[in-house]
Amino acid sequence: MPNPHPDLVCRDLTKNFDDFCAVDHVSFEVPQGSFFSILGPSGCGKTTLLRMIAGFQSPSSGDLNIKGKSMIGVPPNKRPVSMVFQHLALFPTMNIGDNVGFGLRQRGIAKAEIKRRVETVLDRVGLPGVSTRKIDQISGGQKQRVAIARCMVLEPDVLLLDEPLGALDLKLREHMKIELKSLQAAFNTTFVYITHDQSEALVMSDHIAVMNHGQFEQIGTPHEVYHTPSSAFVAGFVGDANKIDATVVAVNGSTLTLTSTGGTQMFIDAPSTAIHVGQSAEVFLRPEAIELVAVGDGVNDPDRVNVSDGVIESVLFNGANSSVTVKDRSGSLLKVSLPQTGAFTALRQGDRVFTRWNPSQVRCYPAPAELEN
Ligand code: ATP
Repeated sequence: MPNPHPDLVCRDLTKNFDDFCAVDHVSFEVPQGSFFSILGPSGCGKTTLLRMIAGFQSPSSGDLNIKGKSMIGVPPNKRPVSMVFQHLALFPTMNIGDNVGFGLRQRGIAKAEIKRRVETVLDRVGLPGVSTRKIDQISGGQKQRVAIARCMVLEPDVLLLDEPLGALDLKLREHMKIELKSLQAAFNTTFVYITHDQSEALVMSDHIAVMNHGQFEQIGTPHEVYHTPSSAFVAGFVGDANKIDATVVAVNGSTLTLTSTGGTQMFIDAPSTAIHVGQSAEVFLRPEAIELVAVGDGVNDPDRVNVSDGVIESVLFNGANSSVTVKDRSGSLLKVSLPQTGAFTALRQGDRVFTRWNPSQVRCYPAPAELEN
């Protein structure tokens, strides 16, 4: 059973560097034993936020509690947190056991007890009997596990992870995502993970905070931030999406009619935010939400909405994630995922196809210029 009590609570946490606000009134709670990711582009303030939680940087204002105690003014080594750095920061001249036992030695724990705890934690991360090996005698994935063991041996309430998979090659990164998630579940420790890689955040997290310009735009489960993004930024940053600039031309109950800047008419379910005729809007349509229809396959049925004809502009083969770009009559390009059934694999540049999508499958937001007015 998940424990609903938060291990970490941040309230209006803010960090200013002179007149630049790097973290802007950020508030969130992380329940005990959960995997929480902070996802955002480079420069959005992720590292600054993590460093405040670790105690390496002090907030300009706001509060930060761990297990119900304010951490404001508490030095890093007195906080119940531990941090895995992007480049792991293992000591190359020490063997694995000495690396893992380093923090315990600093705390003055007896030698025999250190040996016992180091062996136990190495067992738990799936590296039994490697204590005497040198750091350069193990693989990249094993180094990740040693770095986690070095933190977990200190039994922190919260483990902070600063893009630890960033330096790994693609294959190992895919493998380590699964491994990190199962290590977190096995230790039942609260993980706070920062990344600019949406796939890492989606695969591993219980909750994701999507960060932009120092603020959280949305906090939700991976499913929520992917399927019901609360802003145009989240819709564009999490997952792949076609962004279509359009103008609202009619509102009929729960249906909006829009015309894209290229002149294509679109019918969509009205968003929850108020939107009016004449308003500029951004429409986000995922490649997997668009269906390809062969020419002549009933697409001229007058009841069909959001059907357009186009020409294959390019075929992007990427195994199970293959897609095509389709140029419609207005010259606009749409990225469309190819179905897993193997249909349409014979498509080539210049082939004529139809695309269609369901009005409920898009997200629509007022265009940024409209928001400022
Ligand atoms: P990345 O993914 O590239 O590491 P990030 O999201 O972690 O980016 P931060 O490192 O937190 O971003 O930086 C946020 C903003 O604060 C950046 O514009 C950065 O230049 C600025 N910043 C960070 N540290 C300082 C500092 N010590 N003095 C002044 N500005 C800083």
